[in-house]
Amino acid sequence: LAERLQATMQKITGKGKITEQDVKDMMREVRFALIEADVNLKVVKKFVKTVSERAIGQEVMKSLTPGQQVVKIVKDELTELMGGEQNPIQFSRKPPTVIMMVGLQGAGKTTTTGKLATVLRKKHNRKPLLVAADVYRPAAIQQLETLGKQIDMPVFSLGTDVSPVEITRQALEHAKEEHQDVVMIDTAGRLHVDENLMQELVDIKELAQPDEIFLVVDAMTGQDAVNVAKSFDDALGVTGVVLTKLDGDTRGGAALSIREVTGKPIKFVGMGEKMDALEPFHPERMASRILGMGDVMSLIEKAQANVDEEKAKELEDKFMNQTFTLDDFLEQMDQVKKMGPLDELLKMIPGMNKMKGLENAQVDEKQMGQIEAIIRSMTPEERTFPEKMNASRKKRVATGSGTTISQVNRLLKQFEDMKKMVKQMSGMAGKGKKKKMPS
Ligand code: GDP
Ligand code: MG
Repeated sequence: LAERLQATMQKITGKGKITEQDVKDMMREVRFALIEADVNLKVVKKFVKTVSERAIGQEVMKSLTPGQQVVKIVKDELTELMGGEQNPIQFSRKPPTVIMMVGLQGAGKTTTTGKLATVLRKKHNRKPLLVAADVYRPAAIQQLETLGKQIDMPVFSLGTDVSPVEITRQALEHAKEEHQDVVMIDTAGRLHVDENLMQELVDIKELAQPDEIFLVVDAMTGQDAVNVAKSFDDALGVTGVVLTKLDGDTRGGAALSIREVTGKPIKFVGMGEKMDALEPFHPERMASRILGMGDVMSLIEKAQANVDEEKAKELEDKFMNQTFTLDDFLEQMDQVKKMGPLDELLKMIPGMNKMKGLENAQVDEKQMGQIEAIIRSMTPEERTFPEKMNASRKKRVATGSGTTISQVNRLLKQFEDMKKMVKQMSGMAGKGKKKKMPS
């Protein structure tokens, strides 16, 4: 689908201004992308309307094609919709801070409790107490206890015969005595939203007065996640959402819908079953994911900020025609330096991270300085015909640049490798659609 979006983009490339029809064409693709990513239909409609209004009649920035520009507007709006900057955890001024985890059965409450406790200890220097308040399944208490052992964190439990509210009351006392400054309550879930469960959660909330109530939602549940989120929020007033199982192949459109329907921020995302697989929520990354474009947009943004498009085009042509010299390499490096770390940049190009030979192309900042020195110590002739570099020339260049002969050799080899790689790539581009080079 991202391909279709790009094909539509190509069609309107080269135009000076975006027409209404262009925007309509683009928006049809965007609508498909969002629906496919499981975004709620109402949310999609409202969103497409906002974006269309912004996009029509926009002046085209010099370094972006109109298509890219529309996509950029789409992405900016998506990012905005999902809450811009993510909010940190609210800590109580009077410890312990109480965090209540709620959600349907299997959403990932218990797992996330462990993950979040790990983050709190590591990043915030806190001492969490985990509370087993899911008394309906003995296995649930055991699961939390096992987890506690695994991450070396105390677990408070009173078995299955004591009510969750009473467990919570005693846990709070226990935390004060033991100077545990965060209390995390792992509550029960059900397969579906249910009155009794909600009442129990409300009772726990009244007693514990939590600083945060995190709703844990399985991202794979798609559309249903929105209704679930709304029910929990109506009953409890959640303070934030944790979206789990984003390591699966779901597009994550639920994130957008949940945010739009409840107005509550998504604070963390679960990226796996392991205890270190919890990440802060990045609206921008989620927007890219929903649009299914990797981080192409960030790449466009970087390019737009720093690179002179015409120069880049010129270099690209030289690249493709194999007339690329070490002088061009030097210039390319200047451009790249403006854009940020090279390997990071390359990783943003879809498919690029899987490309063979890229390991050799990785260059860090310090190496880049040395490479620059080496090339600058070479004569113009040597830069154009590096194959002329014999032993005595290499020695001269190494001395002149304050490097070693083996470093000079490495650079020459890298340059050859790069040329080979480009040759492969232009072969690929010839077969399929023409791919754009990193700069
Ligand atoms: P609870 O019923 O809400 O407490 O859910 P659990 O914490 O027991 O999790 C249910 C299942 O989902 C378990 O098998 C977890 O390992 C798994 N799980 C939780 N979070 C994630 C995640 O972010 N990624 C993946 N792949 N699995 C997860
Ligand atoms: Mg559980």
